[in-house]
Amino acid sequence: MLSVKMQDALNAQINAEMWSAYLYLSMSMAAADKGLKGMANWFAVQFKEEQDHAQIIINYILSRGGRVKLAAIDAVETEWDSPIDMFEQTLTHERKVTSMIHNLYNLAVEERDHATSNMLNWFVDEQVEEEDSAREIIDQLRLIECNKLGLYMIDKEMATRTYTTPSPLATAE
Ligand code: MG
Repeated sequence: MLSVKMQDALNAQINAEMWSAYLYLSMSMAAADKGLKGMANWFAVQFKEEQDHAQIIINYILSRGGRVKLAAIDAVETEWDSPIDMFEQTLTHERKVTSMIHNLYNLAVEERDHATSNMLNWFVDEQVEEEDSAREIIDQLRLIECNKLGLYMIDKEMATRTYTTPSPLATAE
């Protein structure tokens, strides 16, 4: 059985992942509004991935006979000054999520909850990727500074990002 403390912490993480999803959906809409279709696509894929993160934790709690409790999702910003602002907020936010995942991991270790530690391993790796991809895009945007042709090229590349089901959900199917 999951401890009450562990279950509450996992439920809080579900809410954080849903908030992330909502943030990236908002960024996708802001990008679409600026005619940046590729960037809108990139954030739309991110939106789906964050919902998957929540679903992975939901499935896990259920598989342990726990109770999932959904809380209200806080409002997100709707306006950003520039594309780089969006990605800087993305990186800052993902760093925060990384520390939340690490705190969850620490709690699982403290409670000798090996199953939860194992489940969280996937998230530890995923956060390395999340931070890396945001950083890579920030680097590209810095490289072009405010060059419109450069932004157009980056946007084209972002249009090619496709969604794939993450492995914890793919194997559950
Ligand atoms: Mg996430």
